[in-house]
Formats: sequence, structure tokens, C-alpha cells
Amino acid sequence: MIFDGHLSFNNIENASTDFGNRYHLTPFAVLHPKSISDISSIIKHIYDSNITSDLTIAARGHGHSVEGQSQAHQGVVISMESLRAPEMSFHTGLNPFVDVSAGELWINILHESLRHGLAPKSWTDYLHLTVGGTLSNAGISGQAFRHGPQINNVYQLQVVTGRGEVVTCSEEHNTDLFQAVLGGLGQFGIILQARIALEPAPKMVKWIRALYSDFSLFTNDQEKLISSTNSFDYVEGFVIINRTGLLNNWRSSFNPKDPVQAKQFISEGKTLFCLEVAKYFNPEESDNINQDIDTILSELNYIESTLFQSEVSYVDFLDRVHVSEKKLREKGLWDVPHPWINLLIPRRSIHEFSREVFGDILKDTSNGPVLIYPVNKSRWKNGTSLVTPDEDVFYLVAFLTSAIPSSTGKDGLKHILTQNEKILSFCERPHLGIKQYLPHYSNQEEWKAHFGNNWNIFARRKSTYDPLAILAPGQRIFKRAN
Ligand code: FAD
Repeated sequence: MIFDGHLSFNNIENASTDFGNRYHLTPFAVLHPKSISDISSIIKHIYDSNITSDLTIAARGHGHSVEGQSQAHQGVVISMESLRAPEMSFHTGLNPFVDVSAGELWINILHESLRHGLAPKSWTDYLHLTVGGTLSNAGISGQAFRHGPQINNVYQLQVVTGRGEVVTCSEEHNTDLFQAVLGGLGQFGIILQARIALEPAPKMVKWIRALYSDFSLFTNDQEKLISSTNSFDYVEGFVIINRTGLLNNWRSSFNPKDPVQAKQFISEGKTLFCLEVAKYFNPEESDNINQDIDTILSELNYIESTLFQSEVSYVDFLDRVHVSEKKLREKGLWDVPHPWINLLIPRRSIHEFSREVFGDILKDTSNGPVLIYPVNKSRWKNGTSLVTPDEDVFYLVAFLTSAIPSSTGKDGLKHILTQNEKILSFCERPHLGIKQYLPHYSNQEEWKAHFGNNWNIFARRKSTYDPLAILAPGQRIFKRAN
């Protein structure tokens, strides 16, 4: 076969690892495509071929999965970031959008969109991820309560199926494939291009944090904020267990509203819940925005001495995790194992979950942040492959843990994995109705339980669009057929 790009059999180490740094599956080759036909031809060749019948193909975005999902043992990994064509193309007007290559990083889309005074509506907390990678899951952050996840904010996709056919799909055309691919864990096709919805971009952000010691007050306020029309533009939160000098650490980037009181606040030995919110604005609106914020805050029940505020540019706010990445890289703590768990928890179960997990299983949060925030299901599209709990309001709870490779203590991988098992085994209690986000299972029975009533649709779509189960073997859902 002749490619516009090239197929590499050497230097394939990068394709056999990921951000999780726990799974290392060596591929047979890595394709660096330069054209869409490079990708469609290799899939078609493998689909049509009887000789190479065990070969699988994994699209690799930025490789920021944590359980080997973008890897292919003895298969072909397609480095989607190599496909730089076509260039981003912007359409301004009433409903602005941008057409991007699926291997594009969200950070690049942000910078380019801002040149047009525009930006995507819905984000992830970290922007050095590809469009294809996040759309294969959902793409959830603090804007999702208003705009839904990133998979809600896509008008059209160009996809190559597991049969090697290139198809353009949207809500109106080839709807089944469009819905299958969104949140589809890479099972039905490789996304080549996406048309992303944009909105006018603000210039600045008021970024606010406040603490609660009472979980009910915390969740009541979060739920109030996601259901009110006069609210913030971003609503998240996190759990802090037994952290030393917490508010002192915040002072490098946030200002306390009441410095004297804040100095006296003690976080040691406590379980605290931090509300994190943000309001977008342009400099000329600053006074009005301050009034709006004061009104919203006056109706919340946080501990008054713990209110901290900061004012940053929109880019600095959205790209905030990159600042932590740079610091961790300097200390050699970025490329370590990341045994993460992400959960979607229905509102009815969040208190039982909190009592058991934050009150008993988790002894501290020094190994990485634990995020917790609610979203409204009414803002999420029906019919995609994403599995969510069966309740209108559900919480994203993310244990973003880092392990120290050589440690045998509580920051070591063994200890964290044991703790994760306890959390996951608690979550299996059927009445809780908890679903994994960025799910990971080792056999098909578990996947069937994950999809529940939607399994038949998922399996039917697989046999329609990727009947030989060539694509995304690292998800371990279907066995390669021949
Ligand atoms: P990869 O890891 O390369 O691929 C993920 C899966 O998608 C694989 O199965 C792969 O085969 C498939 N895939 C990749 N590209 C394509 C394509 N073009 N077509 C079809 N399938 C494809 N997620 C959130 O929702 N919200 C967050 O706030 C968030 N924050 C994160 C922060 C960090 C630091 C990290 C490491 C991850 C975070 N994630 C978050 C998770 C992230 O969205 C997913 O892991 C995502 O899949 C990573 O994108 P990627 O480009 O690295 O994909």
C-alpha cells in the first residue's frame, strides 16, 4: 500500500503507553496519516483481507486514556495528531462553528477561535486532549450543566467506519452513525473531522472558591446553581480530606475576601467540600458582574471566612490544568501511574456514596484531586452511546489519583488500587444506579451490565459499522472476528 503519510515499525514506544502508565501493549505498526484516504485505505485493506485477519486498529488521539484504550496489541495504531488536514475552517454568523480535524487539540481550537472572537461552548478541565478522544467519551466540565457535554455541541462528523467507508453524519443525515459515534468509545468508526458549535468568547473570568463542612449544604447549593437562570457560567467542586494549610496554599492564586478570618481557618483533620464557580465577563461589564456575583453568593451557605476570589483571562482559566502539568513535570510527577476512577452518580445516591466513600474508605486526598459536581440530564442529548444514570440530576465524581512508582506506602500504586477496588465494589450495589464514566471493564458480561437496556443497540451498531471488530480493541468490549 502507498500512503501520503507513512507506516512506522520502529519508534513505536509512544503508541504502547498512555497517561495511565499502567498498560503497555506493543503494536505491530504505527500509521502517521497525512490524508483521510491513508486511514480509510488501511481499514478497508484489513477489512477485505483474509491474510491479516487478526489485525486490529486503534485511533490514538493524545493518548490520555488511563487503561490502554488507545492501544492495540500487535495491531496498527493510527496517530491522529499527524493528520493536520484540512486546516481549521471558521464559519461566523448567527450559529458559528468551526470544522476541525479530529486529531486537533482543544487548546489549539481555543487559540484559533479567539482570533475570531469566538470559542467552543463546552470544555474538559484539561485542553491538551484531541477532539476525537473526548467525543468518543463525552467531554464533561463545569459548563456541562448549561450546554451539555462536548458531544452535545457537535453539528456534524466525518467518520470512517470499520468497513473502510467514509461517511458524513449529523442529526439529520446518517443519524444512527452520528449518535453511535458520540460517546461510542471508538467502536463504530474513526472520527476524521468534526463541526464544533461556537459562541462569542468572553475576555475575562471571575473565579471563586468557598468551603463547606456540611455535605448537604454543599450539594444543595450546587444543585441550586445548576438549576437557576441567574447563575455562574461554570460550576464544579471538590472534596478535601485532612489537608494541611489548605487556604494558605490557595493564596498564591486567589485572594481571601476576609483575610483575617481566613488566616484563622484550620483545614487539618477535616473533611471539607469546596465549591468552585466562575463567571465570564468583558472588562467594561466589571461593575455589573460584581453585583451579579454578590447577589448569587448571598443566597449560598458556604463558610463565610473561606470565600476566595481571583480574576484571570479566559484562556488562563480554561487552560488552568496545564499550569499544574508544568509544575508536576518539573518534579518528575506527571509521567507516573494514574489509577483514575470516574463515576456518574444519581442524585438519590450521592449522600449514601459520600457517607461511605468520603466518610470511611478515603482517609485523605493527598494523592490527587477528587472532583464532585452535578449536571442536568435535560441538557444532554438522548440516543448517543454514552451511558448516564436514570435520574434528571447526576453527579460527576472523579478520583484523579497519582501513584508514586517506587512507593509502598499510601501514595503507592498497590495501596491506591486496593482503595479503588473498595470504592468500585461499593458502587456495584444495584440500588445506587451508579455508572462509570470513561468506563473500563475486563469482560463482556461487565460491559453488558454497564450498558443495561442499551446493550442491544450498542451491539447492533457494532455489527453494522464494524462487523469484524477491528476498531478500538483497547476498550476490551468485542473480540476481533475473522
Ligand atoms: P486517546 O486516549 O488517544 O483515545 C481515547 C479513546 O478514543 C481510545 O479508545 C481511542 O481509540 C479513541 N479515539 C481517539 N481518537 C479517536 C478518533 N478520532 N475517532 C474515534 N476514536 C478515537 N474528560 C472529561 O470528560 N472531562 C475532563 O475534565 C477531563 N479531564 C482530563 C484531564 C486529564 C489530565 C486527562 C489525562 C484526561 C482528562 N479527561 C477528561 C479524560 C479524556 O477526555 C479522555 O481520556 C480522552 O479520551 C482523552 O483524549 P485523547 O485525545 O488523549 O484520547
